[in-house]
Amino acid sequence: MAHTIEKLMALSDVVLTDDHLALLAPFGTVHSTRPGDEIFPAGDPESPLVVVLSGQAGIVDRSDGNDTLLRTANAREFVGELAILTGQSSFADCLTREGGEVLVVPRSSVQEIIATIPQLGDVLVSAFAARRQLLLRASSASLTLIGPVTSPRLEQLQEFVGRNQIPHRWLSPDDPVAISVLNRLGANSEAEVWVVVRGQKLLADPTPLKVAKAIGLDLGVCPGTTVDLIVVGAGPAGLSAAVYAASEGLSTVIVDDIGIGGQAGSSSLIENYLGFPTGISGTDLAFLAEVQAVKFGSRISYPREASALSHDGDVFTLRLDDMTDLRGRAVVIATGAKYRDLGLPDQSTFQGVGLYYAATELEARRCRTDDVVVVGAGNSAGQAAMFLSRSVSNVHLICRGPNLERTMSQYLISRLERTANVRIHTGSVVQRIAGGEQLEKVTVRTSSGEDMVIDACALFIMIGAEPRTDWLRGMLELDDHGFILTGADLGPNPSGMIPFQTSHPGVFAVGDVRSGSIKRVASAVGEGAVVVNAVHRYLASRQGAPEAVAANR
Ligand SMILES: Cc1cc2nc3c(=O)[nH]c(=O)nc-3n(C[C@H](O)[C@H](O)[C@H](O)COP(=O)(O)OP(=O)(O)OC[C@H]3O[C@@H](n4cnc5c(N)ncnc54)[C@H](O)[C@@H]3O)c2cc1C
Repeated sequence: MAHTIEKLMALSDVVLTDDHLALLAPFGTVHSTRPGDEIFPAGDPESPLVVVLSGQAGIVDRSDGNDTLLRTANAREFVGELAILTGQSSFADCLTREGGEVLVVPRSSVQEIIATIPQLGDVLVSAFAARRQLLLRASSASLTLIGPVTSPRLEQLQEFVGRNQIPHRWLSPDDPVAISVLNRLGANSEAEVWVVVRGQKLLADPTPLKVAKAIGLDLGVCPGTTVDLIVVGAGPAGLSAAVYAASEGLSTVIVDDIGIGGQAGSSSLIENYLGFPTGISGTDLAFLAEVQAVKFGSRISYPREASALSHDGDVFTLRLDDMTDLRGRAVVIATGAKYRDLGLPDQSTFQGVGLYYAATELEARRCRTDDVVVVGAGNSAGQAAMFLSRSVSNVHLICRGPNLERTMSQYLISRLERTANVRIHTGSVVQRIAGGEQLEKVTVRTSSGEDMVIDACALFIMIGAEPRTDWLRGMLELDDHGFILTGADLGPNPSGMIPFQTSHPGVFAVGDVRSGSIKRVASAVGEGAVVVNAVHRYLASRQGAPEAVAANR
């Protein structure tokens, strides 16, 4: 995906043909414009697609109090970017620079065009996506985050804006620009982190939800209506379910407590996903999936945490943390898992460049002639150590407890003990990690209380993953670790006959949150696609359900 600027410009600078204009005309209304007219303001939740028929329109960013011209549209060009499809408010003002005529096409019609006129829809979607990427690269300041780099609140907000590809810039509190912006807006309280929205509005220590509301990311998921499918979690599994469900005609809403991407969003390079031989970053993969989901008409709502699920007859109600209720005829739970961490300082610095949560051929290849450290005392840690021992110099297996017997299978312990280049360090704890661009050193406090520094290029953290399923206890059957049981794992009952169906008919679980899942991007995506067939079959079995169009595809 990582297109060059030139390629993005080419995709975004579209000149519409006579055919395009003829196809667009019935969907919009023509307005005469004079220089300086506001066509739509920044923050407009319904900013339309604006096609310039004559004259010139401009997109102006006023976020820092000055007018910055972001781009212009001449005759046959159009103003509009991804916000039109995601339901976000416009990031900037649209003004007339030279009088003439514009064709204004409302958002709902843009969705209709994309669904029904592919030769025009594809041009629009490619341009919208390229423009969003250009906005991000220009770091246009529709949001300014001001706070110390060490602040956890700043980190949470950066994860939110980063995962959601919201144009933003970060300023340290002692940066002269930050001081001037805060003075201009009259910051008069002690706050750790300030967020400036479009140069006008100041938020002190806001939550991601507060920021989302301030920039109009309150994604208009109408609580009053009942959709065919609610998907909880917008990682690879949830995004895949949303893409396939929406493309097969189901009205679909997807909610996430942070934003799109899930764990995959924190992977700098996914090298084992089909079709990307040189790898793809998790953010790019998630972004493309989001574009695909909204292209097919899915609505995405974040940052919203699902906190309770109930049902009344055939309708499920999902309660969100802002007390909104979403209603749906079927529910897919795709809330993933969170790998347990060691809580080491500098951990995020080495994510993907020495710090790993899986030991596959990919990671092993990066460590050929070096030592590696594996932390954990369970079978997954033992298997990882055995696997890595075949290709690296030495494997140091670090476990906190006095021995492995309580937590690891005996056969694995015997193999590890018989493998010459595996060193087992019981009663030991990782203290620190260090390096340059790549991890280089792991400091371990040994059972004797001394610090041992291991020259290692990789640290594999294999201390388990935790699902976040507490809110589903009592409604769904979970395994001993809290993962959701589905299909045949539920034993010989009707739910067990349908793949990915949980113990509650109409509620499905896919991806890492499912008991027994393979924790990979590809398997999560695959499960998300396959579950839609089961959803169709379930809906078709209920009265008044939509046609099971995909059941036999
Ligand atoms: C650093 C890292 C690198 C990785 N690299 C690779 C790799 O290279 N190749 C590979 O195949 N796999 C990789 N993996 C594993 C892979 O990312 C996961 O297997 C995959 O993301 C699982 O997808 P998922 O959709 O099931 O869950 P997740 O990706 O975990 O997504 C779940 C989503 O649900 C949200 N959520 C949770 N609870 C709620 C709630 N109550 N309400 C609303 N939303 C909620 C979460 O915030 C999250 O966004 C990596 C994992 C990590 C952590």
